[in-house]
Amino acid sequence: MDVHRVEFEVDWPPFHAAAYLVDAVEPVLVDAGGPGERGWTELTAGLTDAGFAAADVEHLLVTHPHTDHDGQVARLVDAADPTVYALESARDRLRMDADLLAARVRSNAAAAGVDEDGVEEHADRAVSSLERNRGCFPPDCVDRTLAPGESFEAGGVTFETVHTPGHQRDHACFAAGDRLFAGDQVIEPFRAAALNVGLDDEVFDSVDEFYAGYRRLARRSFDRVYPGHGPVFEGFADALADSVASLDSLVAETADALDTLGNATPADVNAERVDEQRDYTLFETVGALGHLDTAGHADHTVEDGVRRYAPTDG
Ligand SMILES: [Zn+2]
Repeated sequence: MDVHRVEFEVDWPPFHAAAYLVDAVEPVLVDAGGPGERGWTELTAGLTDAGFAAADVEHLLVTHPHTDHDGQVARLVDAADPTVYALESARDRLRMDADLLAARVRSNAAAAGVDEDGVEEHADRAVSSLERNRGCFPPDCVDRTLAPGESFEAGGVTFETVHTPGHQRDHACFAAGDRLFAGDQVIEPFRAAALNVGLDDEVFDSVDEFYAGYRRLARRSFDRVYPGHGPVFEGFADALADSVASLDSLVAETADALDTLGNATPADVNAERVDEQRDYTLFETVGALGHLDTAGHADHTVEDGVRRYAPTDG
């Protein structure tokens, strides 16, 4: 089974993303690159280099609905009408009502101790991200919905769907024998951020879910990994251990910040933990506090809809 890598330039670190063309009985593409005209040019050029045309793609597997991976789904469906495979939950998340999403994000942002302007900004960004993604990947494009753990055949290859939330709630890795199409779950040089659901409901479970996804992968071994970013690599166990260690550091930093403050909102803990704040640093802090809570190392109370955490002796 030959696998050809197609690279896309993206505007955020690490400034590239990868999709993979599996030269099977029928051509299978795993992920569909970056958005816009540039993404289409890169996809068609990469396929040409591999000896294929866009119209040859018969099967398209999507690891997760982020625009550096689903960027050309709609365009490829127009050009080649491949059978599109994705987790059922990914399709359903793309279909969600934008107003309901905004309402949930407002409530969770307020619970995290974000100020009023910040609450509105988070709600606006969540909605525009949803709309951007469903522009690239209209949910009705999905022909074959997948359940976690489900095996399926595409183009003569048997793939297993490994549900790996944490970076994104509806993220799947696709295992094919001793190879893993890892999306953003296991990348050799770094761990992808725990964006998971953003500030949608269950944001407090993000880090717990990330660990659960890693545990699901840890029961397996692979000889070669094809990630969504960074190089193709062979040291699966080491890369997985590094990813888990990076999540452990996030939890440890969050616990330290909480210890320093004693009793604080997630937004305060985030300000203490990171100097240069971004949306994702808040998502990660909130998820890490949720994890400390589940693990018995922190407790929270709710007053006027705002959570305050404190360390426990546990
Ligand atoms: Zn990515």
